[in-house]
Amino acid sequence: MKGICILGSTGSIGVSTLDVVARHPDRYRVVALTANGNIDRLFEQCRAHRPSYAVTIRAEAAADLRQRLAAVGLGGIEVLSGAEALAQVASLPEVDSVMAAIVGAAGLLPTLAAARAGKEVLLANKEALVMSGQLFMAEVVRSGARLLPIDSEHNAVFQCMPAAYRAGTEAVGVRRILLTASGGPFLHMPVAELESVTPEQAVAHPNWVMGRKISVDSATMMNKGLEVIEACLLFNMQPDDVQVVVHRQSVIHSMVDYVDGTVLAQMGTPDMRIPIAHALAWPDRFESGAEPLDLFAVHQLNFERPDLARFPCLGLAYEAVRAGGTAPAILNAANEAAVAAFLDRRLAFTGIPRVIEHCMATLSPAAADAIESVLQADSETRKVAQKYIDDLRV
Ligand code: NAD
Ligand code: MG
Repeated sequence: MKGICILGSTGSIGVSTLDVVARHPDRYRVVALTANGNIDRLFEQCRAHRPSYAVTIRAEAAADLRQRLAAVGLGGIEVLSGAEALAQVASLPEVDSVMAAIVGAAGLLPTLAAARAGKEVLLANKEALVMSGQLFMAEVVRSGARLLPIDSEHNAVFQCMPAAYRAGTEAVGVRRILLTASGGPFLHMPVAELESVTPEQAVAHPNWVMGRKISVDSATMMNKGLEVIEACLLFNMQPDDVQVVVHRQSVIHSMVDYVDGTVLAQMGTPDMRIPIAHALAWPDRFESGAEPLDLFAVHQLNFERPDLARFPCLGLAYEAVRAGGTAPAILNAANEAAVAAFLDRRLAFTGIPRVIEHCMATLSPAAADAIESVLQADSETRKVAQKYIDDLRV
């Protein structure tokens, strides 16, 4: 029986994780749940899963939740608040596994705390890894934590790699990683129309139902850019050896190309409960609740090259990973600021890569040798991005 802490339990990944966990009460006990907004959902999750701890970011939300829990006889659940409480519950001795499912940079410190405490880290929060890069990977090695990828592509790659890959992918005969991408909702829209697409159009993903931020990232293909960086770090690959392949059906979740010409692919229906269940059960397997794959219904698998002129964010991500140091943290912070502005209707969709390009041209990357340098790059970039977004509006 393992204890699990779910950082970001009210989000898309958090909800899917609880769905899988609830199917296996003999394997997992929910120790802690955390949320930013959506206290109603957190309350319902506390009623259903009876964690020992619940964490909110704002103190008023915690007070409200405490009262509501007490009213239904669940006053025994300890309700904490504040960003530090996230790191605290992620490091509890009764926690074995931490699902890192907060969106964006807000997840960095608690996810890092879980790694430092030597937990099994189930990593969905790709921004945390992209920002902190080798620092994060070094903490995992130092503490003996186990890092299991939840992002469907990286989970697929992990499933297609032999266990010995950690000693070096070259030694196990890996030539390339083929990272599949759906291409998002605007894959074939005339480029001239991209300028005026709305947040509603951008978050309507053809194959996956996800949080708003990652949905916009899928529409710009920055999601794939962040995933290229994530793949380089998780599997110790060079950027040139990570090839993005547009695959509209989202049936193949990624592939590993070996030196002998073998290509191993992992397939399944587009349902995040599959990678989540894989990581939760690893090295065993158990049921996820996902529908079995019906290849006759899929009928066809198509592949195309990504169009870097249509999706400049993808090229910018390759540039950032090649530059190294804090460049990926700058890329990520600029993107987070730009996506938030787009969702607030303060920036056009095509303004997103412009903001990122501006930040990358203005700020020089430093060595990412301490978490403080990463956090500094993050906050400096947000200021530069904000000013640029404000200037674009006048
Ligand atoms: P979401 O927006 O649905 O949920 C985000 C969660 O984080 C919520 O519980 C929210 O309360 C919490 N949160 C937001 N801001 C916070 C803050 N400042 N402090 C503390 N908590 C905060 O997002 P999601 O789609 O579940 O994605 C979560 C992460 O998983 C992202 O990094 C995303 O890239 C990654 N991911 C998601 C999917 C997917 O299918 N949704 C697939 C692969 C990877
Ligand atoms: Mg993904």
